[in-house]
Amino acid sequence: MSPEPSRLALRFKPENASFKAKVAELSGEEIDLCFQCGACSSGCPLTAEMDLLPSKVIRYVQLGEEAVLESKTIWVCSTCFNCEVRCPRGIDIANVMEALRQLMLRKKYDRVSLDALEPEELRGLPQIAIISNLRKLTA
Ligand code: SF4
Ligand code: SF4
Repeated sequence: MSPEPSRLALRFKPENASFKAKVAELSGEEIDLCFQCGACSSGCPLTAEMDLLPSKVIRYVQLGEEAVLESKTIWVCSTCFNCEVRCPRGIDIANVMEALRQLMLRKKYDRVSLDALEPEELRGLPQIAIISNLRKLTA
């Protein structure tokens, strides 16, 4: 299920602080530096497959909205770092995506698995898709 942007609260709620702090700790990023310029989203090659733009993912995290974990965007992100080089505030968005994936993996949820593919399907995949699936940063 995709998060509902229309239901996103416009103000930070104190009860959401722990989720925000956890993502900040795991990612090592200063999420509050983001001022929603959208440069990350405009440079992302995979937005057509995403249900939330990368800049929106950052906004959800700023607000501590855990619903962002339901977004397929965090699994679509291929860790290509286009967004990082464009961000004027030096935020590595791929690190944030990775932190969100890790939170889901800790709940024993994985959206994609190479094991579920037939050998012919696997052979037809671009190399970058396989590398992304294995996630460059996930231990
Ligand atoms: S790292 Fe992820 S969010 Fe950033 S540009 Fe690449 S695919 Fe998009
Ligand atoms: S490029 Fe950086 S500052 Fe701009 S919206 Fe994306 S994360 Fe925020």
